[in-house]
Amino acid sequence: MRALTFVPCTEGTLGVEEVPDPRPGPGELLVQGLALGICGTDRELAAGEYGWPPPGRERMTIGHESFGRVLEAPGGSGFAPGDLVVGVVRRPDPEPCRACAHGEFDMCRNGRYTERGIKELDGYGSERWTVETGYAVKLDPALASLGVLVEPASVVAKAWEHIEHIGSRGWFEPRSLLVTGAGPIGLLAALLGRQRGLEVHVLDRAAEGLKPELVAALGGTYHAGDSLEPFSKDRPDIIIEATGAGSLVLEAMTTTAPAGIVCLAGLSPGGRTHRVDAGQINREIVLENDVTFGTVNANLRHFAAAAQALAQADSGWLERLITRRVPLEHAADAFERGDDVKVVIELGS
Ligand SMILES: [Zn+2]
Repeated sequence: MRALTFVPCTEGTLGVEEVPDPRPGPGELLVQGLALGICGTDRELAAGEYGWPPPGRERMTIGHESFGRVLEAPGGSGFAPGDLVVGVVRRPDPEPCRACAHGEFDMCRNGRYTERGIKELDGYGSERWTVETGYAVKLDPALASLGVLVEPASVVAKAWEHIEHIGSRGWFEPRSLLVTGAGPIGLLAALLGRQRGLEVHVLDRAAEGLKPELVAALGGTYHAGDSLEPFSKDRPDIIIEATGAGSLVLEAMTTTAPAGIVCLAGLSPGGRTHRVDAGQINREIVLENDVTFGTVNANLRHFAAAAQALAQADSGWLERLITRRVPLEHAADAFERGDDVKVVIELGS
């Protein structure tokens, strides 16, 4: 079978190669790969910026935004041939730390977790793959062409779970949400905000095109720009920051309503300095009981919540998030940065 493989930390090594068919071990599903979503992490891996091959290997299969159809399932596993599934990305560290021991490997304390397609485990970018039944999530048949969105939605589902945990420290009836960045994470964060009945605002640099249309179709308000200044009067209760832009991160911390929550979900490149009035930021956070927190990755519970959220969403709207589908033989095209929202590699049908 064919797999999309690369040599971690070595630029220009990504390619489709013939590899042995995977054989499911006890408690594992054999899955026909249908599609693979590509994100910034994959582009960084392909560019040789980081990545860790499985022990004793040079090349590994890329891909963590999985989607497939079950070919073989162990009896009594709750899965059956034909089921649509997504595989969880992260696995607990071998120790495991106490968070991993509780199934909360997204909150791993020692950093020794492994990840499909990123860290020491082959990814899901192959025509067939296996996954442990305990790390697979069954999807509603309505998501037949949309399963690749579950992984990015799982990151967002975790963000919302944590926002709600933080909010519940006191009286919490949020009215408004601001999302910065209208990429897949930002748009899915806006979707889950609308599902919670919030007034949703999305800020992005794009002045026209698909992003404003998608926000309007959600019933949200789109703002083209790169500053939170327009929100300084009517401040949102919740900000989900999905750009990683340092200036927006700093502005977000002082642009919430009292008892506001800022969820940082984007990664900054680092190396850029900003002049800030640290005392003023501190005063705003303390005097308003604000919280700023970071979030990354997702555990099995968040994948299940994501699958449920997507099944309840308008499938036509979700379909528009996938702006390009590339066949496996042209996989390299999927790694080129365009003005796409989400690019997907087709693995089979
Ligand atoms: Zn751990």
